[in-house]
Amino acid sequence: MKQLAENVYSITGKGFFSVPVFVLEKQNGMLTLIDTGLEKDSNIIIKKIRKKWGDLEKIERIVFTHRHYDHTAGLAHLMREMTTISAPESPQERVEIVCHEDEAPHFANTLRGQIINPNRTVKHEEIIDAELKLKAIHVPGHSWGHICLLLEKEKLLFVGDLFMWMPFGIRPVFQKYCDDYDQYLETIGTILDYKWDYAIPSHMTAKKIPRKKVEQFIKKISKKK
Ligand SMILES: [Zn+2]
Repeated sequence: MKQLAENVYSITGKGFFSVPVFVLEKQNGMLTLIDTGLEKDSNIIIKKIRKKWGDLEKIERIVFTHRHYDHTAGLAHLMREMTTISAPESPQERVEIVCHEDEAPHFANTLRGQIINPNRTVKHEEIIDAELKLKAIHVPGHSWGHICLLLEKEKLLFVGDLFMWMPFGIRPVFQKYCDDYDQYLETIGTILDYKWDYAIPSHMTAKKIPRKKVEQFIKKISKKK
């Protein structure tokens, strides 16, 4: 587990393609997760959450950057583990599962037989949590409803799959994994309209990338209309 800010953590599974789960902690100890990672990593992730926070019942919300399985497949396991004797009702009744409104219609298809639908959809610039000051920034293209998540106080931007960090620098996502690559190139610059100091991509090791580097990269690839 890595600490990215006072109340912000990342938990990474094993292997090159693992997607980390980000954990945001509120004053009252309640947790918001960003993405749930791969199914194969869910054991590690659940174990680490339990070790640090004691109980999965602290999780009040899960926000998905988008629907791709490497970001969402861990959800089914997590939901099963959250169903306990003391909380036998479906965790979906007490946990907010959030995605962008344009992502929701495509969502259930990706959870391999176990249909767990988001129960809250958000729009561009909607505040997801007032205390955390967590805001959704809709940047479509990689997927129709892909969102970046801005933590306004900490000035951190979780960029999901907007780009990847590689040992040789930032690179765009692969075209073949995009719903609309042209739209991706047109909208990627949207994130520069907001105040943040570091961007945190999902792939690779939850690294904080300084804004300057991101600006240079976007300048190179953006086709803003
Ligand atoms: Zn993706």
